[in-house]
Amino acid sequence: MILCHGICFSQNGMTVSSEAQKLKDAGLVDIRDLDSSIAVHLLYATDSNFVGKTMYKSLREAYLQAEAAKMLVAAQKHLKQVCPGCKLIVYDAARPQWAQEIMWNSVKDTPMKRYVASPQRISMHTYGVAVDVSILDENGREIDMGTPVDFLGALAEPANETKYLASGELTLEQVKNRELLRSVMKKSGFRGISNEWWHFEALARTDAQRKYKTMINGIMTGR
Ligand SMILES: [Zn+2]
Repeated sequence: MILCHGICFSQNGMTVSSEAQKLKDAGLVDIRDLDSSIAVHLLYATDSNFVGKTMYKSLREAYLQAEAAKMLVAAQKHLKQVCPGCKLIVYDAARPQWAQEIMWNSVKDTPMKRYVASPQRISMHTYGVAVDVSILDENGREIDMGTPVDFLGALAEPANETKYLASGELTLEQVKNRELLRSVMKKSGFRGISNEWWHFEALARTDAQRKYKTMINGIMTGR
């Protein structure tokens, strides 16, 4: 482990933020070290998220367990095959437990709590096996998914797409765009969830718990 404040230097001399260093120490990998063509824009490093405040002070990179990062690289390849010029954009990946606690506290007394995992349950993001992702077109613009990422509401729920397509609240193009994302992620082994079109998991919860429980107990608590 490297002790540092704010900015750290890794073994290859590259600078790494202290928040990122904790994730590296936990054995997680920076996905752009595997494929630099994947775009990364962490929503929680900005105040444009459902909490409305910046949570990551210094973290700007997307970290995942190596097996999940490799699956994401495969998804990017599948995407490029079916949509030349398109690329994945990651909005969140490994998420420290303290950030999950801030999120939970912001919704726990509201109906929106169904969209956020309780810190006691441990988010799949905290295990480093979940990723929030969308698609950029050949001009670098996010394709239209019907709602922004992090929109906590029924319109974002894949389970409701048929209903909202029928009512006209989602267009066929928006649903097809979501299907494109789901198809490249599922082809790479990810599974989606029923209430957020952007959220995908590399493992079942029981497997994540079995493989990575020690990691999160040891390192991903505390800021
Ligand atoms: Zn997510």
